Amino acid sequence: MLLAAGRTARTARLGLEHLDISTDAHRQIVTDPRIRTTNPSVWAAGDVTAHPRFTHVAGVHASIAARNAVLGLNLKISPVVPRVTYTSPELAAVGATHPPGTHAMVRTIHHTHVDRAVTDNTTDGFTRLIADQRGHILGATIVGPRAGESLAEVVLAMEHRLRTSDIAAATYPYPTYSDGVWNAAIADVRARLRASAAAACCCCAGGGPTWTPG
Ligand SMILES: Cc1cc2nc3c(=O)[nH]c(=O)nc-3n(C[C@H](O)[C@H](O)[C@H](O)COP(=O)(O)OP(=O)(O)OC[C@H]3O[C@@H](n4cnc5c(N)ncnc54)[C@H](O)[C@@H]3O)c2cc1C
Repeated sequence: MLLAAGRTARTARLGLEHLDISTDAHRQIVTDPRIRTTNPSVWAAGDVTAHPRFTHVAGVHASIAARNAVLGLNLKISPVVPRVTYTSPELAAVGATHPPGTHAMVRTIHHTHVDRAVTDNTTDGFTRLIADQRGHILGATIVGPRAGESLAEVVLAMEHRLRTSDIAAATYPYPTYSDGVWNAAIADVRARLRASAAAACCCCAGGGPTWTPG
C-alpha cells in the first residue's frame, strides 16, 4: 500500500501575521463560511485552509472566493462534500455514513440486486442511503465499480434538499449501477408509506393485528 498522507500547509513564512490573517493550530488559514480570512480584504481556498483536501473542494472554494472578492457577493461554501477512494472496488461517500439520530433511516441495496452488477459479475458492493423521516437525504455510501459516478446524483440531491421520493419518481436507464441509488430511494419511499399506513390503521393502533398493505 502506498499511503500519501500527512500533508501540512506551509504558511509559516508567508508573513500572514503582518496582514492579520489568522491560522489555526495546524497552520491552516482560518476562513469563515464565505471563505473570507480574518483580514476582510483577503479570501483563501484550497489545501491551505482547514477544509477537506480535495481538488474539487479547492476548485469550488476558489470560485466562491473569487466571486465574493471581485463581485462583492456573499456566497457560502456548501457542507456537501463528496469523497471517493479509487480502490477496487471503488468507495464513494457523501454526508452521513451512519444514522445521526434514532429517526434517520438506512436503506441498503446490495449489488446482488443491481442487474448491471449481476451482468458484469461485480456484485461485491452495495449502495446505502441515509434519509431523515421526511425522506431528505442525509448521506450516501456506494461501494462498487464507478461508485463516484453514481454518487454524483446524490450530491446534487443533497445540495437541493431533494427527497428519496424525488429520486424514486425519476426514470433511470437500465441496467446501470445508478439503479442502486434508485432502488434504495424506492425502498425508503415504500417503507415510509408502509409505516404511515400502519399508523393510520385503527386496529393496529390499539395493539390489534398488524395490517401489511400490498
Ligand atoms: C498523492 C495525492 C493524491 C491526491 N489525489 C486526489 C484525488 O484523487 N482527488 C482529489 O480530489 N484530490 C486529491 N489530492 C488532493 C489534491 O491534490 C489537493 O486537494 C489539491 O491539489 C489542492 O489544490 P490547491 O490549489 O489548494 O493546492 P495545490 O494543488 O497544492 O497548489 C498549490 C500551488 O501553490 C504553489 N506554492 C506553494 N507555496 C507557494 C509560495 N510560497 N509561493 C508561490 N506558490 C506557492 C505550489 O507549488 C502549488 O503549485 C491528492 C493529493 C495527493 C498528495
